[in-house]
Amino acid sequence: MLTNTEIQELTSLLKNKSRIVITSHTNPDGDAIGSSLAMYHYLLKLGNEVEMVVPNSFPDYYNWLPDSEKIVLYNKQSKYTQQLLNEADVVFSLDYNALGRLGALSEIMQKTKGKRILIDHHIDPEIESFDYCHSSVLTSSTGELVYDFISKMGDESLIDKKIGEAIYTGIVTDTGSFSFSCNRPETYDITAKLVKLGVDAQKIHKLIYDTFSENRLRLLGYSISHRMIVWEELHTAFIFLTKGDLKKYDYQVGDTEGVVNYPLSMDKINMSLLITEKEKQLRLSFRSKGDFSVNELSRKHFNGGGHRNAAGGKSNENIDEFIERLKSVLVEYKDELDYKMSL
Ligand code: 5GP
Ligand code: MN
Repeated sequence: MLTNTEIQELTSLLKNKSRIVITSHTNPDGDAIGSSLAMYHYLLKLGNEVEMVVPNSFPDYYNWLPDSEKIVLYNKQSKYTQQLLNEADVVFSLDYNALGRLGALSEIMQKTKGKRILIDHHIDPEIESFDYCHSSVLTSSTGELVYDFISKMGDESLIDKKIGEAIYTGIVTDTGSFSFSCNRPETYDITAKLVKLGVDAQKIHKLIYDTFSENRLRLLGYSISHRMIVWEELHTAFIFLTKGDLKKYDYQVGDTEGVVNYPLSMDKINMSLLITEKEKQLRLSFRSKGDFSVNELSRKHFNGGGHRNAAGGKSNENIDEFIERLKSVLVEYKDELDYKMSL
């Protein structure tokens, strides 16, 4: 967390009409987009020149957020992104803990000369890559940390409805609508303040979650009925989707969001996994309930990481090879996966 001296330095840095670029991680989610926009609106209010950059596209169901169309996608505008980052006096890194999480953009990021400020809630941030770190694993979301950051800058009064909606989007999506990472009272204190500002929590829930296309809903049904395998003895269930499946259901960015949570709704299942076949590799999404750490599992075996109960990863194997290895890895964790949740 930030020291008083750092807060003073940041206060003058951010109130100095700086050129600021806000960045967030590959395959941006609601917290990446929400926290970026909240920070954007705040920094504009301070009189800065501000741009937002992400490595690739994000789901359409965040397009209702004001100014989301101003987010520059590196995979669409690589030269422009590079120019923005090279010229920036300050670069914010939101919702990721290591430059490698920017994928193809990480090399450019490594060469930036501006001050680097991290705001994030993932485990073990790569602190040596940043000049300032506002990081806490306990916090629900980066959205919540942005609220905290603005307050620490002495600017809580600048948080308006628009900033509040963006922060709320981060909180609601990263807590699975207040179902995990939501046991700290601070999350509700901040949420209550946002609602007081006029943030319509019910409407935002609908704008994010009740926006399925018919194909997306059918893909979900197909995933569960045809592509889910349950390994009861390992308290694990997983869903795999091939390129052909995605094509058949006219996959759009965001269509598989949330699919990984369904296997976990089975009583005996403590870990679930979604395996998606992408162009060059398998994309992995892990979830667990209780103490089993999918962050540790993915860091150790599947080229990824994240949080204890939600992590990502990747593999260059084909689906069959991957499933075979998955089984042999999980057998080692058999005892750790065998528990029953209780109060
Ligand atoms: P998801 O499964 O929803 O893509 O990601 C779950 C969580 O893990 C998110 O907090 C995300 O930022 C993080 N995550 C996803 N993929 C990776 C990865 O490849 N490496 C690391 N370190 N974290 C990831
Ligand atoms: Mn997050």
